[in-house]
Amino acid sequence: MSADEKEKKRLEKQKKRDKKYRDIVYKGAKRVYDRGLSQMGEGNVSVRVKRKNEMYITPSQNDYATMTPEDVVHIDFNGEHLSKGRRASSEFLLHKVLYESRKKAKCAIHCHAKHAIMLAVAGKKLPLIIEEMAFFIGGEVNVTDYAASGSVELGEKVIEAMGDANAVLIRNHGLFVCGRDMDTTVKVALLVEKMAEVYLGALQLGSIDPLPPEKTKKWIDMFNALNRTAPRKK
Ligand SMILES: [Zn+2]
Repeated sequence: MSADEKEKKRLEKQKKRDKKYRDIVYKGAKRVYDRGLSQMGEGNVSVRVKRKNEMYITPSQNDYATMTPEDVVHIDFNGEHLSKGRRASSEFLLHKVLYESRKKAKCAIHCHAKHAIMLAVAGKKLPLIIEEMAFFIGGEVNVTDYAASGSVELGEKVIEAMGDANAVLIRNHGLFVCGRDMDTTVKVALLVEKMAEVYLGALQLGSIDPLPPEKTKKWIDMFNALNRTAPRKK
């Protein structure tokens, strides 16, 4: 193969990879928007590039209704843009801190889902109230302390409050979730929002009994095997 042919092959491969990552972010973002978890200009969706300190992420001031895969931004963990056009969301630091601290996290979604924000504004965590939460989220969903959006400090508070789970409520702000693939990450975002609504509704009826840890061990074990993104404790 000549040098020209080799270069052509390399570029074709790169283009294919670029399209694959753009599509993952685009489809994830559309699902988040279609289900009402974020509105125009809110939140962000990202995927990590395999074996690289890079990600693809929705752009700043994203309009989910009109966005196309070409709007998705390719950026490295230092914040250098590797694609032309749109600028990355200012909250990309949140995603960077996650990917750097959790090797198994491949996708992340930050959204402004209504019932999740109600809990985040009140500073109340979402307890473990159904088994499905154990399997997909890994337990209860904690709330961070407040930190300004777009700051590294917020990223650090998020990782700390997440603990072993794949979701966290960001104080006075919104929801942040991650997973090993986009389908599961979208599922976690939808599940947290649904359970936040269920929890707030159930509270109106009386007191709540969260599921005790010994009752959910089977599901937590399955979570650890299939969905966990936090590093295992030695
Ligand atoms: Zn936000």
